[in-house]
Parts: sequence; C-alpha cells; structure tokens
Amino acid sequence: MSTIEKFDSHVMHTYGRLPIVLEKGSGTQATDENGKEYIDFGSGIGTNSLGYCDEKWADAVCAQVRSIQHTSNYFYTKVQADFAERLCGVTGYKSVFFGNSGAEANECAIKIARKYSFDKYGKGRDTIVTLVNSFHGRTVTTLSATGQDSFHNYFFPFTPGFVHTPANDTAALEKLISEDKSICAVMVEFVQGEGGVNRLDIDFAKAVAKLCSDNDLVFIADEVQTGMGRTGTVLASEQFGVKPDVTTLAKGIAGGIPMGACLAGEKCADVLVKGTHGSTFGGNPIACAGANAVLDRLTSEGFLDEVARKGYYISKALLDMDGIIAVSGMGMMIGANLEKAKAADVLTAAADKGLLILTAKEKIRLLPPLTISYEQIDKGLDILRGILAEV
Ligand SMILES: *Cc1c(COP(=O)(O)O)cnc(C)c1O
Repeated sequence: MSTIEKFDSHVMHTYGRLPIVLEKGSGTQATDENGKEYIDFGSGIGTNSLGYCDEKWADAVCAQVRSIQHTSNYFYTKVQADFAERLCGVTGYKSVFFGNSGAEANECAIKIARKYSFDKYGKGRDTIVTLVNSFHGRTVTTLSATGQDSFHNYFFPFTPGFVHTPANDTAALEKLISEDKSICAVMVEFVQGEGGVNRLDIDFAKAVAKLCSDNDLVFIADEVQTGMGRTGTVLASEQFGVKPDVTTLAKGIAGGIPMGACLAGEKCADVLVKGTHGSTFGGNPIACAGANAVLDRLTSEGFLDEVARKGYYISKALLDMDGIIAVSGMGMMIGANLEKAKAADVLTAAADKGLLILTAKEKIRLLPPLTISYEQIDKGLDILRGILAEV
C-alpha cells in the first residue's frame, strides 16, 4: 500500500492535502519520496522559521533529547527557565505560560482575561470582543472566538461570551464597549492570517489599546502567526506602537516543534495561580531547546532587519508581476490578490513546478522561512511568474 493510501485509510480526512509525500528537507528546500525538490514558501504555515533542519537548531534539539526529553511540571528545568527569561526579555513581558499550540495559547489568554475580570468585578463580566474574519484556533472555545460564521457549525453548543466587530471600525468598537457592560477583553490579530492577510490600521490598533486601558479591559494580541520575527520585529505589536496586556505565540516559536506561549504584562502576570491552569507537555524541554535556537537567530545582529528587507523585496516583486493586482501583509507574511487565476489552482500548479505556497481566502499567501536566501526567493518568484503568465 502506498503512503497516501495507508494515510487516507487511517488518518481522519480533516484536511485537503496535495498528493505529495514529503520526506526530508534542508534550508528552504523540501524533498518528496520520489526525490523531487520543492522550494518552500510556506514553512509549514510559518512554523519552520529557520527552514528545514537548520544545523544549530537540530544540534540543540538533539542534545536536549539525549539529556532530558520531558519532565512533568511538578519539577523545574533549566532550559525552560532560560527560554522563559529570554522570551520575556525580548518581548518586554513579565510572565509566560507554555502550552503546545496556538489554540491552547489563546485558551490561556481567554482564561486570563476572564479571571482578571472575575477577581476584580465578580461574575458576569466575561464577554470577549474579537474581529470579523479573525482566526483563533480549532478548540470549541477558540472557534467561538473566531469571527467567521463558516466556523460556527456542527459542534453546538459553542462556548458563549464572544462578540465580533469589524476590523478597523473604531466607532463600532467604541459603541459596543460603551453599550455592553459584560465585556472584559478585546482580542485581535495585527495581521489576520487565515482571514486573508489583512493588516490592521495603526489608528485602530491604538484605539483598541486606549479603549482597553480606559475601560480596564484585557487587550489580547493573537500573534500566533505574526509573532517571533515573522513581520520583521519580534512581535508585530512593536510596529503598531502598542503594548497588549497579553500576547499569544505558537507557530514559528520553536522552529517546527510544537509550542504555544501566552505572555502577560504587569496587569495580568499573576492572574493564573496554582491549580487554575496546566498542560502536561507545556514547556517541554525539547521544544524549549528548539525555541532557544530560534531566539539565538532572531536576536543575532541585523537578522530581523533582513527579514523586513526580504519581505519588502518579495512584496515589491509580486506587485510588479503580471497577474497580481494587490499585495498585503507585513514583513515575510505576504498575501497577493490574483487578477484572473484562482489561488487554489496556482497553489496546485506551483507544487507541480516545485514551489510550495499557501492560500488565505481568495489570495495566495507566502510565509517563507525567515532564513531564506535572495537566490531562493528569486527562484521561487520565477516559478510563480511562469505560472501566472500561463493563465
Ligand atoms: C494558526 C493560528 C492559530 C491556531 O494555532 P494552532 O497551533 O493550529 O492551534 C491561532 N491563531 C492564529 C492567528 C493562527 O494563525
């Protein structure tokens, strides 16, 4: 039985997959079981931030596997302490909770927001505002948080206590907050990823921060996709001139090993106390070793500036390309609207020609490894140009 037949017989069919079996990778390049090579502009959805099997990252992870691979959270490990200290240092937060995914990081943020309010105001102030077109995860609660109707099906009853408001509409948010006294938090993505690579206006981001501060609401930033260097700064919030009370991270944080993190500033740092939250695998030493290696690179001289420059270079090349009518995003999180072609068809054609890309709504979406070279960028863009010239 082929890998694909075996897979399809036994793994639940929750994804639309390309008929490609990836076997290994190096840097920006993935290789399938037949030896065909692909330039990867998707990084496993922004997760392989240093590309495939980066040497130093792999060394750090392997050394950790051979030293101590897991302990329960009834004990301390140095590698988790080191990563927590460094992560709080580079992001300017006071404390962190580690989980294993973006959805879990957001669950933690939601629990913090509700308990912060409960501790101060008692029961009933528990509604969280999120944005239309947002994406916050696949658990029953983070699906409720997700501001897209198509996700609110089948799994009834969904967790109550979420309302959605349009992005970049400050008046609508103001009205909502002034009328609904049950609101305790506002949660946003600075660049909506799954929702179509839509960037928030700086003025709106600042208004969210001010409304939260004026009304003692918890300002939560879901930086699961935008965080850890993806947009050219450690956090995207830096470029919006705001400091959310809580920021969530996952995807690229550990370079391809499962990890989620929920960061809290002064206001919320001590909301979760003994017995109120937990995760068996959270802060796993192997994940922390990978995350330390990612952070080494992110904080190396000039690295993030280079991410920003490469992002600009790719965006500009896309704008100049026939068949593309608009480009959106920030840093190396890039969306492009196509003139005639369908994003899904371009994705399939690209894979055929040896380029892996992503889509988001009607756009093609690129999240290349942060370490990609200009040579690989040009190679990938040439393939894309060729495909768009044929439609
Ligand atoms: C991917 C993503 C999530 C969900 O992360 P998982 O690791 O799949 O649970 C949540 N929020 C945003 C913004 C994401 O991009």
